Amino acid sequence: LEWTSARGWHDPGLRELHALDWHPATVGLHYGQAVFEGLKAYRLPDDGMGLFRPEAHGRRLQASARRLCLPVLPVDLFTAAVTRLVTADAHLLPDGPGLSLYLRPLLYAADESLALRPGRRCRFLVMAFVTEGFFGPDVRPIRVWVNERSARAVPGGTGAVKYAGNYATSYAAQEEANAQDCDQVVWLDALERRWIEELGAMNVFFVYGSGSDARLVTPPLDGNILPGITRDSVLTLADHLGYRTEQRRISVDEWRVGCGTGEITEVFATGTAAGVSPVGDVRSRTRDWTVGNGRPGPITTTLHRELRRIQRGQRRTPAWMHRVTEVS
Ligand code: PMP
Repeated sequence: LEWTSARGWHDPGLRELHALDWHPATVGLHYGQAVFEGLKAYRLPDDGMGLFRPEAHGRRLQASARRLCLPVLPVDLFTAAVTRLVTADAHLLPDGPGLSLYLRPLLYAADESLALRPGRRCRFLVMAFVTEGFFGPDVRPIRVWVNERSARAVPGGTGAVKYAGNYATSYAAQEEANAQDCDQVVWLDALERRWIEELGAMNVFFVYGSGSDARLVTPPLDGNILPGITRDSVLTLADHLGYRTEQRRISVDEWRVGCGTGEITEVFATGTAAGVSPVGDVRSRTRDWTVGNGRPGPITTTLHRELRRIQRGQRRTPAWMHRVTEVS
């Protein structure tokens, strides 16, 4: 889909994946006026395809676009575009336990100008790729590195939207985590450097207690954290399953001490790519610690399983699957 200030949205089309010619002065390249989404389509038991919460992703793209002064795409056009692509590409998805179709919508300023003003010609496109689960089909606890040097988001910045530049600035921190033999970065707040915000490109949950006394705690959406669709889904699903939930700040010290006393029993991360992934080991400049016994806990396992069942059409509540292809 193309957008110009004069014509609005126009020229929808479906094309084979092909290279685009970018003029060297493309606005999106120089000034980063680009936002994106990431969502998945799954094979349902009757062989149809289901998209997970496309309207929620469409609304988040709108929020991202507003923040970056990009044109706002109506949610029905967003859903129509991803639906059309999934219909065309469904045959690419072979049967396989961990496989799904990952969809990458992108919205960027495509006009050629070095003037520092919002693009007047923009483009929205969606790509599809067959993908495995982020961490493979099995649930493997991830090891995380507490990043004390840089911040992903600053108050008043772009942390709460899916802005391309947020990811470029986090490369260095991810390299540092990799050098420490860790999978993901723990992002702390920019001001006090102690409040936990996110884990790499995932939101994070802490489980206090166990059994029917368990309580799930996740940092609140304070303007710096990306409002993950999986985070929102897990909060709702936890409610359906009878777990209490709480949105409040939690510091690195509380995390470390809580694991030491056994008050924190499980920690997991959530995201479209990762689903629900347990956190095993935590490393930082001064201390290392382990969550529980380092293995996936029962609540993490239950949430992981129930979310997968919804996405594969084996559980119908909450009703989050948007059916794409009709069964012939
Ligand atoms: N935080 C960040 C920074 C992310 O990039 C993502 C992935 N979109 C998430 C959290 C998780 O969001 P979602 O559950 O919508 O994939």
